[in-house]
Amino acid sequence: MKLQRQIANGNWVEVSRDNQEYFLSKCVTFLSLSLEEVCRKLHLGKPLSYDSDWYANLRDVEAVNALQQQQEAKRRSPDRDYPTGRRLSCGHTVYFSAHIMSTSSGPSCMDCYDRMS
Ligand SMILES: [Zn+2]
Repeated sequence: MKLQRQIANGNWVEVSRDNQEYFLSKCVTFLSLSLEEVCRKLHLGKPLSYDSDWYANLRDVEAVNALQQQQEAKRRSPDRDYPTGRRLSCGHTVYFSAHIMSTSSGPSCMDCYDRMS
């Protein structure tokens, strides 16, 4: 976990290791959650308030970055059955299970179906 807190100008600044416990416990008190719940939410990439000021937010920047990467990957490959592709016996790679044909020599793409079957 790598905590950041927001400051009044809207920027995020790193919370030093010595201060992490302090801000986490402020979150626990302000949100009436257990420390476990606070950590779990931060781990999901959610910013949490630790005080009533609009900018008094805490986040785990590692989780936020991971979440952004996931969303970016999803945006690039919407609803693919195999997000990173699946290599078939014919040597081609497909991204959707509907593009896989079953042949006697293994799964092939639609283009190779005639050649393989
Ligand atoms: Zn093929």
